[in-house]
Amino acid sequence: MIRAARGPQLRCRGWRQEALLRMLENVLEVGERPDDLVVYGAFAKAARDWPSFERIVAALTTLDEDETLVIQSGKPIGVFTTQASAPLVLMATSNLVGKWANAEHWYELERRGLTMWGGYTAGDWQYIGSQGIVQGTYQTFATVGAMHFGGSLRGRLVVTSGLGGMGGAQPLAVVMAGGVALCVEVDVSRIRRRIATGYLERETSSLDEAVTWAGEALEAREPRSIGLLGNAAEVLPALVRRGIRPDIVTDQTSAHDLRVGYVPAGLSLEQWRDLREREPDAVMEAARVSIATHVRAMLDWQRQGAVVFEYGNNIRAQAQAAGVADAFEIPIFVERYIRPLFCKGIGPFRWVAVSGDPHDIAAVDALILREFPDNPIVTNWIRLAQEHVQFQGLPARIGWLGHGERARLALLVNDAVARGEVRGPIAFTRDHLDAGGVSQPFRETEHLLDGSDAVSDWPLLNALLNCTAGADLVAIHAGGGGYAGYYQSAGVTIVADGSPAAARRLDAVLTADTGIGVLRYADAGYADAVATARTRGIRSLQPTVIEAAHAGDD
Ligand code: NAD
Repeated sequence: MIRAARGPQLRCRGWRQEALLRMLENVLEVGERPDDLVVYGAFAKAARDWPSFERIVAALTTLDEDETLVIQSGKPIGVFTTQASAPLVLMATSNLVGKWANAEHWYELERRGLTMWGGYTAGDWQYIGSQGIVQGTYQTFATVGAMHFGGSLRGRLVVTSGLGGMGGAQPLAVVMAGGVALCVEVDVSRIRRRIATGYLERETSSLDEAVTWAGEALEAREPRSIGLLGNAAEVLPALVRRGIRPDIVTDQTSAHDLRVGYVPAGLSLEQWRDLREREPDAVMEAARVSIATHVRAMLDWQRQGAVVFEYGNNIRAQAQAAGVADAFEIPIFVERYIRPLFCKGIGPFRWVAVSGDPHDIAAVDALILREFPDNPIVTNWIRLAQEHVQFQGLPARIGWLGHGERARLALLVNDAVARGEVRGPIAFTRDHLDAGGVSQPFRETEHLLDGSDAVSDWPLLNALLNCTAGADLVAIHAGGGGYAGYYQSAGVTIVADGSPAAARRLDAVLTADTGIGVLRYADAGYADAVATARTRGIRSLQPTVIEAAHAGDD
């Protein structure tokens, strides 16, 4: 068992290095299968293998402030003398040359120990457990309530599947948005883990019982969450046959991966694990068939009037490949509910108390409530999170903040660290699912106005910019396994240790990071992004922004 170090004792030559080491330890502390270095998403890892992990730890403990550790797909490669304001850690994870970027090549390289998948936040040590995704999931469900159900999910039924690292946030998010969540999960240990950490209320393996509980909660208009042990490819069609029509349907099984992600119908977990070693092709074919059944049930409900959307697990692409021609009739959640926020540079921003002291997160909560009274998204969220969200691992919080706000918060926190009001350093990071952090044509960048969905220059520029601005860790990721060839993304971490140098770097990094995101959407033709660039003083050279500025001057 790996547990992140806590307290004031440094093992490294500075807090910046120590913070990154604790972030690495923390992703394993809160991860799904730490023995295998797997953090979430079926097989997204923190390091290539245990010897690599040990070498990374050793390198971090001896790293000087003007040195940079280089990591290739979870394996440390070398240390270079750079400069004190340069990143301490640079990573490139799971990247393959275009024509080779497919599942077949990727699995072969992985089998030979030459690559690893880092997900968005596993390989770059930024995952903070389900608490890191819960605001985004809440934000999505609350927006669904606002757009489709008169402002709330009260008395509304959400059917979804998958209670893993990310999907485990769904029941709590639905309850926070006022609805009733019926969550289908094939692995009982995942259900129990969500109950133990306060994300899920009740469990049953009986479909009848789950339906009864859901009906009672809907009638009483009480927010409730129910975990139902079963396979989505069996349970969903059974619910359709019973004539049950949910209000909202989505899914967070690891459908992105046919080999180790999605459990085919008719197999126990033991049979599945055994078979995927012996006959991986048969397992993949069975998963494909089950995903097709699963998505057909989602489409049935969509035709009956339910609000159905994909939650970014590539299930539509898998179903389409399995013969479900109309799988893409289901929309992606980002386009509908999240993109308007990206245009303002708003996205999932996170902070971690590397001291391990929960007081530090409480202090940042108080600071946000005091300094951001005009931002109801984040102030409502902080109050909800204080009431509902338990810490996992190092105390941490997520808060969706936009361009300008992130840098402002980080500078306030850095000052508070310097004054001792926040007792230890705070590491700031954000999800790759953000305005500038990713190109993924079936998710974040699906159906962009200008059709630039697959252009991956943007996250690469984002990463380069974050390096020059002085981030502590910068990572360039691409999809692995079933996601191979589907995306390019970039991650960043920067530590507020209370020093003046940290203040300069925090300001530069967090302003550039959201700034390039806003310009990405301005470039794609989004009026909100053009307006944000103009009004927030981003120095854009794009004709649309310049013209808008002139029009404003007139
Ligand atoms: P995970 O592997 O930790 O969990 C997946 C869960 O699905 C597991 O608990 C597994 O037992 C369950 N499962 C698999 N097959 C099933 C089936 N047939 N029926 C019922 N349950 C089944 O993965 P995770 O981290 O929770 O992520 C889930 C998926 O959602 C991934 O594809 C991830 O990429 C995606 N996701 C995307 C976003 C985004 O767009 N940013 C956010 C969250 C999650």
